[in-house]
Amino acid sequence: MRLDDERESDNVEDVRGQGGGFGGGGFGFGGGGGGFGGGGMLPMLFGFVLSRFGCGGVVVLFIVLALFGGLGNLGAMLGGGGQVGQPQAGRSFGPNSDGGTPAAPGQEDSDKRFVRKVLASTEDTWTRLLPEQANVRYVDPKRVLFSGSTQSGCGGANAATGPFYCPADKKVYLDASFFNELSQRFGAPGQFADAYVIAHEIGHHVQDLLGISDKAQGAMDRASPRQRNAISVRLELQADCLAGVWAAANPQLLDPGDVDQAVRAATAIGDDRLQQAAQGTVVPDSFTHGSSAQRVHWLQTGLQAGRIDACDTFSGGV
Ligand SMILES: [Zn+2]
Repeated sequence: MRLDDERESDNVEDVRGQGGGFGGGGFGFGGGGGGFGGGGMLPMLFGFVLSRFGCGGVVVLFIVLALFGGLGNLGAMLGGGGQVGQPQAGRSFGPNSDGGTPAAPGQEDSDKRFVRKVLASTEDTWTRLLPEQANVRYVDPKRVLFSGSTQSGCGGANAATGPFYCPADKKVYLDASFFNELSQRFGAPGQFADAYVIAHEIGHHVQDLLGISDKAQGAMDRASPRQRNAISVRLELQADCLAGVWAAANPQLLDPGDVDQAVRAATAIGDDRLQQAAQGTVVPDSFTHGSSAQRVHWLQTGLQAGRIDACDTFSGGV
């Protein structure tokens, strides 16, 4: 990746080494398959009651309708709209981290610079694209870089949480050891693989700004566990696609082979791959993030189209 000329974002909160009063223990996002929305997780997730945030205006409504317009069954489910005050879960990236390998001290600063630069690139990109393509103003999210554990607006976060976006406080949480883990445990090394993880989480922030997260969460609250997983998969695949849209807008950052790194990462953390590794069998209904093939497909869809409206994972099959 060519990041030398990129500015560094100021929106990184570095709380590494501060602990967080979470007290260890498993937050347990998505046991087994990895991620939010798995059956046993929901009662716990719904415990994290989050404040709602405004999504106003005909324009936003139009975008939501445009994105959800072609839905079949899902459209009916989503049709009722979200209700004020419903809990809303954060969105994770996929893999369940088991703690990973802590970064070496010298590596921490370069990791932080890397995160700042990639974040700055997402800020510049979405500040331009969101008004252009969706008539919505982009509001920069914060990125919290932590080690050990910390508190988020969606509850405690620790190394086992994996990276996630919390809509309640509009922050992306990233454990400092995750990049090592992506490289070592999931066999997907490379800066662009790491950048894809960041861009995926920012994709959840974009969904939030577009009102899609609220709408989907409202539907998930009323759905069966199986339906909830299906909605979760569509949200996650859309975040993958939006990561692709970001990459498409930044060809100057890419070295040859970079896209392959991201595709390897998307492949490595597909639910089918993770389940196969964890339990030796694959149960598609329990997917919360999508299969490897789906994740790669939607990442590449975003990359090729470079447009938000290409990321309509809610219409038809995925
Ligand atoms: Zn995600």
